[in-house]
Amino acid sequence: MTEHTLTVAGVAVDPRHWIGGERVASAGTFTDVSPIDGRALGEIARGTPAEAAAAVAAAKAAFPAWAATPRAERARILHAIADGVEKRLEELAIVETTDNGALLRSHRRGVMPRVAHNFRFFADWSLTLDHEDFETRGHTNHVSWDPAGPCVLITPWNAPLMLATWKIAPALAAGNTVVLKPAEWSPLTASLLADIAAEAGLPAGVLNVVQGYGSEIGDALTSHPDVRRISFTGSVPTARRIAASAAPHLTPLSLELGGKSPLLVFADADLDLAVDLAVEQYDNAGQVCLAATRILVEETVAEEFTRRFVAKAGALVQGDPREEATDIGPTIHPRQLDRIDGFVRRAVEAGARVVIGGHRVDERSYAPTLLTEVAQDSEIVQEEVFGPVLTLQTFADEDEAVRLADDTRFGLAATLVTGDRERADRVTGRLTAGTVWVNCFFVRDLKAPFGGSRHSGVGREGGTWSFDFYCDLKNTVTAPKGWNDHG
Ligand code: NAD
Repeated sequence: MTEHTLTVAGVAVDPRHWIGGERVASAGTFTDVSPIDGRALGEIARGTPAEAAAAVAAAKAAFPAWAATPRAERARILHAIADGVEKRLEELAIVETTDNGALLRSHRRGVMPRVAHNFRFFADWSLTLDHEDFETRGHTNHVSWDPAGPCVLITPWNAPLMLATWKIAPALAAGNTVVLKPAEWSPLTASLLADIAAEAGLPAGVLNVVQGYGSEIGDALTSHPDVRRISFTGSVPTARRIAASAAPHLTPLSLELGGKSPLLVFADADLDLAVDLAVEQYDNAGQVCLAATRILVEETVAEEFTRRFVAKAGALVQGDPREEATDIGPTIHPRQLDRIDGFVRRAVEAGARVVIGGHRVDERSYAPTLLTEVAQDSEIVQEEVFGPVLTLQTFADEDEAVRLADDTRFGLAATLVTGDRERADRVTGRLTAGTVWVNCFFVRDLKAPFGGSRHSGVGREGGTWSFDFYCDLKNTVTAPKGWNDHG
């Protein structure tokens, strides 16, 4: 504990940067506020461009030794970080809930175990990277995944530690060093992770955390000539700025962005399953990039689907995310609540009918909302709300279903509910989406490629695709001749 230490839900959190294995205070700070009750949690370092540059310098200095560390030793340290996450799981869960308002029960049972799994999975996967040598006119081709250098990782607030570690783990396992810039609305667990990594024996400078506003330090990170990779999860407008900022040095980018994913319900579907999957889209108060926010239902079953949906959604419990019984917690920030309400107001003005919700519950939460009678080209159908707001449209046949489903600028995910396997194959083949779920939702394996098409992103991470991004792939061609031993 130092004079700087904050106590959040009984857990000590250092609000300073973590640079080169040391805590570094910033001249300025910003106030971190809990979405649960609007209470100030403390003052967090408000990074400057010079501090961002110092973090990149620390990552650059630490790179040669970490890159030269054998993969198995790097993997051992990543497993030790996973051990630390598991040991402090309760603390991480309550701090994350206090900081971003997502359900404590999900953090305990799903999110934080997945954080540990991120480290274990990519540690182990790095040991399997292999491509069989092949011959070209007697010459041997050997493919290797070489560490690339310092990576800048920029993450959003909706799933802070899960999304950060999904990038940190493969970057470190690949032999790179990292500068993490967490979101300013949920900065705390990144700081705890820095402590855990240091305790696990990660050398100084291999992982650095810079706090602050993206608008103030983002450019210093993404335009830096020593940065070799940028992986970003967040919104499309920010992605455009980052891409422009990275352009002069042609720094490779991985962009995981927003979505407006469809959930298609065919008349041959198990309707109860379809309703369950549709209501699941309110998880995390709708603040999920993958959420299927556009429900498309075949005309003949639309009335029955809506009836069952309204009954099921009506049973959701909205309240304090620390309570076990709560299904929907608060929205991250009053500004976000205003944004959600603005979308709904404009949709209603444009002719949408409110089936459920359509209003704030209090100054922190928005009621689960379903809107119908929405035009395909309207804002509410085309733009990401990032709140508990779903639209319902109907279709007459498969062609119309595909046309509506595919008609946005996004392409992150799609969910189909159908009892007909041939239909599932046909429709899947016609949709533009990084992930398609058939009769399920949110089943994710770290081995799978993950990312979006069109404005939902650039590139894929997951399994070997993560290492393809975080590494410099090298092909070494060796001739059979020229050896001193003539062998
Ligand atoms: P955001 O783009 O506002 O912010 C994301 C991060 O970028 C924050 O850390 C922010 O500080 C930083 N940032 C802001 N300006 C920057 C700049 N000029 N340079 C560099 N960094 C900058 O997004 P958000 O509101 O925090 O997150 C919500 C968005 O994230 C939604 O669009 C959601 O769909 C998307 N998201 C996508 C995925 C995915 O995997 N595809 C996952 C979660 C969230």
